[in-house]
Amino acid sequence: MQPSKIPANKNQRVIDKYGPCPCDSKKPYHKCCRPFHQGELPSSALLLMRSRYAAYALGLCDYIMATTHPQSRLYCEDKVAWSADLDAFASQTSFDGLKILNFEESGDTATVAFRAYLRAGGQDVGFSEKSSFARVDGRWLYIDGLTSD
Ligand SMILES: [Zn+2]
Repeated sequence: MQPSKIPANKNQRVIDKYGPCPCDSKKPYHKCCRPFHQGELPSSALLLMRSRYAAYALGLCDYIMATTHPQSRLYCEDKVAWSADLDAFASQTSFDGLKILNFEESGDTATVAFRAYLRAGGQDVGFSEKSSFARVDGRWLYIDGLTSD
């Protein structure tokens, strides 16, 4: 793994850390997802899920990649290509909100059901998803999700 080869995400967004967190928690970013984006480990899959949504909104592709389980179908060995894909998606999408519908955690596995409010090219591309997560060596990771419109 050679992270230095990954180009900086050109579409990374910088926001006021005292402003509202992009995960739609109504809390300020610095008291919500920012610590996770800076390396603190979320204590639950729900916090990880919220911080991944916020990372998409901010174009923090490295965070998305680092919190994806290697067995996920989204996982890609080619980090440069993967980062470019994530960057393109994040920059073309407006992240308008997040609603948590359900959260279940049992030992080192968890599921989070949510609705993501997204727009791209003037279209509503929001979706609902039930995501599964696993805790590996103390870190919650995203595995996969079942989506519906
Ligand atoms: Zn947040």
